[in-house]
Amino acid sequence: NLQDKLDRAFKVLKGQGSITEINVAETMKEIRKALLDADVNYKTAKAFTDEVRQKALGQNVLTAVSPGQLLTKIMNDELAALMGGEVTELETKANPTIILIAGLNGAGKTTFAGKLALHLKGKGKKPLLVAGDMYRPAAVDQLEVLGTSVGVSVYANRDSKDPVGIALEGIAHGKQNGNNVIIIDTAGRLAIDESLMNEISEVKAKTQPHEILFVVDSMTGQDAVNTAKVFNDRLDFTGVVLTKLDGDTRGGAALSIKSVVNKPIKFIGTGEKMEALDVFYPDRMASRILGMGDVVSLVERAQMQFDEKEAAELQKKIRKNKFDFNDFYNQIQQIKKMGNMKDLMGMIPGVGKMMKNVDIQDDAFKSIEAIINSMTPFEKENPDAIQQSRRLRIAKGSGSKVEEVTKLIKQFEDMRKMMKQFSNPAAAAAMMKGMP
Ligand code: GDP
Ligand code: MG
Repeated sequence: NLQDKLDRAFKVLKGQGSITEINVAETMKEIRKALLDADVNYKTAKAFTDEVRQKALGQNVLTAVSPGQLLTKIMNDELAALMGGEVTELETKANPTIILIAGLNGAGKTTFAGKLALHLKGKGKKPLLVAGDMYRPAAVDQLEVLGTSVGVSVYANRDSKDPVGIALEGIAHGKQNGNNVIIIDTAGRLAIDESLMNEISEVKAKTQPHEILFVVDSMTGQDAVNTAKVFNDRLDFTGVVLTKLDGDTRGGAALSIKSVVNKPIKFIGTGEKMEALDVFYPDRMASRILGMGDVVSLVERAQMQFDEKEAAELQKKIRKNKFDFNDFYNQIQQIKKMGNMKDLMGMIPGVGKMMKNVDIQDDAFKSIEAIINSMTPFEKENPDAIQQSRRLRIAKGSGSKVEEVTKLIKQFEDMRKMMKQFSNPAAAAAMMKGMP
């Protein structure tokens, strides 16, 4: 694991007063090894460590930072530079903008098509999804389900077996319907083969897309780099989408792909849900690779989910002590929408490493939800009224122990009390006064 290797490399520097030729050389050797293990190709790893070494040696070690911290900062900047430095925006000025999606089977193309449609819809665009994978009958259904779930129309023609024809029909359909972005999903193959390359090249030639996004599974390591190279040689794509960065990821793919094909990474996929898409920020990815935690992404994602108006309403309810089990239930749904719990926790600095050994299930809320679902509307609105007989019935209905129901109600009441205190500035001030 890259993280462990880097941690070990930094230990070499710990406690040393300054960055010297010797400790840098040692650290860089470790880091180069770590990068190679994480599928960064040799040339990239060597260029990177040479650059960092150069910069580190030129630095005066400030008393405020340890050599390790300083080196981390230098590495962070270098890694970010290596991955493109700046954010590369998607080109969407043309009307309609045509976006072609390419990649191997299982890379996450169709999922990404849905995510991108949602992302662009959020930016005020009116996208159309075109189902261009005719090899797998289920692929059209899959795209239609995703389209429905994100509220974006899908163009499909189940009678056709001609990918170029479908793409052109889809574009014509989109123009007629006033769609300003047309996203064309395509078929993949299990491995690179000539027929796939010919097919996708022809779709490109006939549709003249503004963006060709190459989707690749980040878990496939060095293969991802090779695949990227072949696709780029044939398609000259405009950007890369790295999927499945929520798993036990190999951050190295991001580094190598950029350095081998010299095309920007534009998006990363961080889960199966439609919201689990992030714009690729090189500096944040660098921090994530170095284990500093991606706090900014975390906060942004949270903000996207928590509608401000809703928050204000909630605030009002809390102040009046009217926060009830319905609200609680809604909050849980919001948290779940934010994506995989483990993924989210992993973005908090210091927690990422800890989480490796902890198995947080996405259904951590299941038993809580079951208990709340077994309450009557009256009980949900009046948590105070849930006495023992009601608790027994709720426990039975939800398949839990009455102790669990009692515990949940107790926790809910404590939480409500605390929330009320924090929402009232006067009460909060009074509480602070009481503190030593
Ligand atoms: P395609 O064959 O390239 O169209 O790939 P799909 O979009 O059908 O995705 C293949 C599988 O990968 C599906 O089970 C997706 O839910 C899953 N998948 C796609 N993107 C991500 C991601 O970012 N994270 C995770 N964990 N799974 C993903
Ligand atoms: Mg697909």
